[in-house]
Amino acid sequence: MGLARARSVALLGVDGHTVEVEAHLGGGPAGLTLVGLPDTAVREARDRIRAAVVNSGESWPDDHITVSLSPASLPKRGSGFDLAIAAAVMGASGAVPVGTLHNAVFLAEVGLDGRTRPIAGVLPAVLAGARGGHSTFVVARGNATEARLVPDVEVLAVASLSELFARLRGELVDEPLFDDEEEPTAPRTGPRPDLADVLGQPVARRAVEIAAAGGHNLMLLGPPGTGKSLLAERLPTVLPPLSMAESIEVTAVHSVAGALPKGAPLITEPPFCAPHHTATRAAIVGGGSNRLRPGCVSLAHRGALFVDEAPEFGRGVLDSLRQPLETGEVIVARSAATVCFPARFLLVLAANPCPCGKPGSACTCSSLQRRRYLARLSGPLLDRVDLKVELQPVTRAELLADQAFAEASETVATRVSQARERSARRLSGTPWSTNAEIPGAELRRRFPVSEPALRPLGTAMERGEISARGVDRTLRVAWSLADLAGRSRPGADDTAYAFALWSGRAQ
Ligand SMILES: [Zn+2]
Repeated sequence: MGLARARSVALLGVDGHTVEVEAHLGGGPAGLTLVGLPDTAVREARDRIRAAVVNSGESWPDDHITVSLSPASLPKRGSGFDLAIAAAVMGASGAVPVGTLHNAVFLAEVGLDGRTRPIAGVLPAVLAGARGGHSTFVVARGNATEARLVPDVEVLAVASLSELFARLRGELVDEPLFDDEEEPTAPRTGPRPDLADVLGQPVARRAVEIAAAGGHNLMLLGPPGTGKSLLAERLPTVLPPLSMAESIEVTAVHSVAGALPKGAPLITEPPFCAPHHTATRAAIVGGGSNRLRPGCVSLAHRGALFVDEAPEFGRGVLDSLRQPLETGEVIVARSAATVCFPARFLLVLAANPCPCGKPGSACTCSSLQRRRYLARLSGPLLDRVDLKVELQPVTRAELLADQAFAEASETVATRVSQARERSARRLSGTPWSTNAEIPGAELRRRFPVSEPALRPLGTAMERGEISARGVDRTLRVAWSLADLAGRSRPGADDTAYAFALWSGRAQ
């Protein structure tokens, strides 16, 4: 009769929960009973782990083995429990000393040949284990760099079960049996995208800056070739760099998605995600049958989500953006679990003005066709967009003339950071961190704007050009303009320009 315990971590979205793995030997015919895993996973795990142990040169216990993973109610997906199960079985059989297992958290899959394999989500798993008071983590070599992003923990990276067993026995380990050291992915070559690359669209460049400063969502309307994608891709380059805590948060999401670059996994810059218009709802908000993966809205967390050719997206897909835009997170429900992923991003919508997408006189779309095309974007979604810019094709002369005025991302990013510092001071002690987040009623009550500054909006309201909700949105943008200019509150110029940006008429 032998008993051994090891630990692992189950992930629900980016939240990890410690799982106790207990192996018990004896009391019946030879075999392995696994308790606490979903049925579909049990058979695979049983065969895989047995083969891995035998192929590592160990003898598989001749007794009946019961392995239980608890708490049983916790949904457990994936094969990241393999290493903990193998270690617990070997501990119970006496092949490795039991005491060494007690404090370690095991996070790896094993192959039939006994090799350990990296798993998705190691960073959030180690974070959860560390929060639970654990300090030693055993992972596959390919996960070592990522696991070591968590401060104050000891990470033991093993290439195989043989290496793990040898280490647990306190034997000297020479060269690893398999060489699975991480090869850093090639560093990005070529120049980084820069806002100064987008010539001839000064209003749109300015709108990108304002969007970054105030956290405003942006819509770019224009025929193909006017630079909509170039502008959207450059929005992350003017956003403030991620703090260490934000980097970890963003990296954890990409880790669960299995989308981290090898060797240098920490994401330090605001991410950019641009789904194709054929993307499914699950690809956008997250989902998947076997493993719940974060969708584009979460991969864009603390960065920008670019929805190009927005009217071409399925209506349900676009509507699925409303929840994350509202709450900064997305709830993905599946039969076994409800999972919450962070999803706080800046939205850039882009569209051709008509279905044919041809410029100028080449377009033969009727005005009705044009209206219908843009009407595919629902009101509730557009209600979240504070800035709208219509881009026109640019002549060669205009491109050359603009060259002297196109500022580098670095210059713009400095102004954005200063503007964000101003708004952060004003918003300290409130639940909001950017101007775009302030609810309309609170905006008017807490941050009143002078009578002369309100006048342009009053005139627009009298003419029926703007609704009360539209006024709130332009006021938020006016505050961002004042923050960028270093003014203590918006003046009439700011509200007038904010109105122009809201209505798509800014020049
Ligand atoms: Zn057309």
